[in-house]
Amino acid sequence: MNTAKTNVTPMMAQYLEIKAQYPDALLFYRMGDFYEMFFDDAVAAAGALDIALTKRGKHEDEDIPMCGVPHHAAEGYFLTLIRKGFRVAVCEQMESPAEAKKRGYKAVVKREVVRLVTPGTLTEDSLLDARRHNFLAAYHAVRDEAALAWVDISTGVFHVMPCSSVQLAPELARLTPREVIVVDGSEAEWSETVEESGATLTSLGAAAFDSTAGMKRLCALYKVGSLDAFGSFSRAEIAAMAAVAEYLDITQKGNLPLLRPPVKESQSAAMQIDAATRRSLELTHAMNGGRQGSLLHCIDHTVTAGGARLLERRLAAPACDLAVIAARQNMIGYVSDNAPLRGDIRDALRGVHDLDRALSRLALDRGGPRDMTAIRNTLGQAAALAQLLPDDLPDMLQDAARNLTGHEDLLTLLNDALIAEPALLARDGGFIASGYDTELDEVRKLRDEGRSVIATMQSQYVDQSGVTSLKIKHNNVLGYFIETTATHADKMMAPPLSEVFIHRQTTANQVRFTTVELSEIETRILNAGGRALEIEKRLYASLRQVIVDQAGPLGALARALAEFDLAAGLAELAVSENWVRPKVDDSRAFAITGGRHPVVEAALQKGGTPFIANDCNLSEAHIWLLTGPNMAGKSTFLRQNALLAILAQMGSFVPATEAHIGVVSQIFSRVGASDDLARGRSTFMVEMVETAAILNQADDRALVILDEIGRGTATYDGLSIAWATLEHLHDVNRCRALFATHYHEMAALSAKLDGVDNATVAVKEWEGDVIFLHEVRQGTADRSYGVQVARLAGLPTVVVERAKVVLEALEKGEREGGSAKKAIIDDLPLFSATPAPKPVAAKDSAVENKLKTVLPDELSPKEALNLIYELQSLL
Ligand code: ADP
Repeated sequence: MNTAKTNVTPMMAQYLEIKAQYPDALLFYRMGDFYEMFFDDAVAAAGALDIALTKRGKHEDEDIPMCGVPHHAAEGYFLTLIRKGFRVAVCEQMESPAEAKKRGYKAVVKREVVRLVTPGTLTEDSLLDARRHNFLAAYHAVRDEAALAWVDISTGVFHVMPCSSVQLAPELARLTPREVIVVDGSEAEWSETVEESGATLTSLGAAAFDSTAGMKRLCALYKVGSLDAFGSFSRAEIAAMAAVAEYLDITQKGNLPLLRPPVKESQSAAMQIDAATRRSLELTHAMNGGRQGSLLHCIDHTVTAGGARLLERRLAAPACDLAVIAARQNMIGYVSDNAPLRGDIRDALRGVHDLDRALSRLALDRGGPRDMTAIRNTLGQAAALAQLLPDDLPDMLQDAARNLTGHEDLLTLLNDALIAEPALLARDGGFIASGYDTELDEVRKLRDEGRSVIATMQSQYVDQSGVTSLKIKHNNVLGYFIETTATHADKMMAPPLSEVFIHRQTTANQVRFTTVELSEIETRILNAGGRALEIEKRLYASLRQVIVDQAGPLGALARALAEFDLAAGLAELAVSENWVRPKVDDSRAFAITGGRHPVVEAALQKGGTPFIANDCNLSEAHIWLLTGPNMAGKSTFLRQNALLAILAQMGSFVPATEAHIGVVSQIFSRVGASDDLARGRSTFMVEMVETAAILNQADDRALVILDEIGRGTATYDGLSIAWATLEHLHDVNRCRALFATHYHEMAALSAKLDGVDNATVAVKEWEGDVIFLHEVRQGTADRSYGVQVARLAGLPTVVVERAKVVLEALEKGEREGGSAKKAIIDDLPLFSATPAPKPVAAKDSAVENKLKTVLPDELSPKEALNLIYELQSLL
């Protein structure tokens, strides 16, 4: 597009100049009450938003495509566009048309992009999930170091950690950021990993990642001389953090969000869980991608958004530090033993608002009076909560409790300054309480008096004119005016009334007038109203400053409230679902008595079916080989033990009657086939890739859960792979493992390998049907019951009957071994004609027909011999 063309209107020239700076974003160009889009942006936005595409003027002799959205509804449109992968540059009018006119008859209103809306930089409540973080991450490698930094600008948390390239996928799986920034030119290298985590990939120039300049940028951001106060950071870590800061600067146009000091995380502190394992265990998302059906959804009894977000963070990164785990258990233990206190804490927390997000909106100057009252109400609730607490709280709650108080001055200020329920936006005014500011009270009085004067004037004018239906009304175009019906118009417009009443407008049924007196009063009201608004804006700005200056303590308060909420939520869960405190130590134990799968149990409960609790003991034999028919409950058992370890190490109680777990450093789970056809890999290939990752990475503190390895290939291939995998886990990885298989042959391994025990999920056979007991016992399954399960699944009877015959034939071959088996398998196609209700009746031979007539009991030896001769002759 050529901006130099002379036939371009001044406004279009301005548009094109601004647009040229944001080639990758849709430019929302503010015109009065609308955001307008032009050219390709209009075409793309109209399609994505399903709104009408129109035209406006011409550019280089072509129509200019245009579409627009009302500015008050823009948030909803942002969300749709962000979900569809766009970013939006919001361009506002920086002066009123009147101000522009003062500069010259044809001057265009000044406009500037004030914000770039991207998936990782949202702050509006309507665009965010209250119970989840919204992370923006940056990844960068400097020589042989690499680091990941991430921030949630809606709450201000900022973290960084060293992160090698192989660690990136699991870390992204843990954090599930919305947007990941990498350096220009490296997009191809990272796009698959980033997109797989569900995030949008964004690239920034190399300058943004420069660690030397970055250090200065971060020091300036935090107003410190050196970053040492926050810990020591590698070049790569500084580069990644600096890129985050730079991107915030670009998207927020210098209006920097409130960022808490960066916290350095180390990998060893958390249990390692890779992306496939998170998916298969459905920790924070169910298989279908939603929250419902996930472990997180099932255990979330928190009552505040901050508590819910803390729960997700803890669940995504269970601890390995015994002291941390014990401290968290102490909190839950204390609150679960004290039912009245628990109820009181939860009641107090129900009145708490999302402090972090209100604070961050205010810091970005994107907030309003309602964010201030949210903070005020939260401070009130926090003070009430502090009153409830006894002195003997466990350490972590004691620490949190200290942060609940000390906000009395701010609370008093906000209580005095703000009305109970203000409007959302400061620009509407009316949110400052009366009695807070004398000047404001005075102008408000003037304004209100003006209004009551007008009410008195109306009755005076009725008397004066004799028109009883006369009314004084107000609209935005005319301001205050006197209105009568058309029938009285002549009278009003003739002397003597016309000397007082000045005609302004005639509509279909009404005639409108003003008077000198009325316009004078109006000016007074307007002046007072405008003045009141000005004062309120000034007071708003100073309140905002007071709040933002308190960001540190308020952030600590938000964390304290989240901690109380989480402790009370997990305690509530433990009490209502009968969970116990697990013993977690640095042994190699894994002994669970009466363990349950919380999500399956909850689902079964709805249908009134009990869940069968099961034990698991990997303390002696560290590997259990689990056999049992399909549908018996193998995967459920495998997963439940992995979940117990995760719950225990996040510091929660666990669904069992007793649990002893030696700290698990890594969890690997390969349960159920996860199709990855989108990436062109077969199920078998995915399974092998994941198995390889486990065998290469699992150390002796790992817990490995493997289900049906080798199912996707030929029987003997599969069996051999499963066999060799189990041997490797036993001899090389030496980790604790649960290994489910349908290859019963593998049970023989337990005799060979010390560390392997056989277990099976019991079933009962009843009149040819199989009944699932869901009980895990020592031993091996005797049969697979596949045919019975198939019948339960509703396979047609002829197919089930046929399968039984084939199975019998195969089993017979198996018993007779080698060549007999081959002969029977070769014979099988003969049977394959369907339907085959009586396999042998189809083509009876003469010998068979003859045999059918024989009653052996009644034959003498002589007759039997003769019969043999006769049969032979029939061949
Ligand atoms: P498998 O892996 O052996 O094919 P699953 O673990 O998928 O079997 O379990 C099949 C179904 O059996 C589950 O959907 C669940 O409804 C039920 N189930 C599993 N374990 C139990 C249990 N311990 N108690 C009650 N029902 C169970």
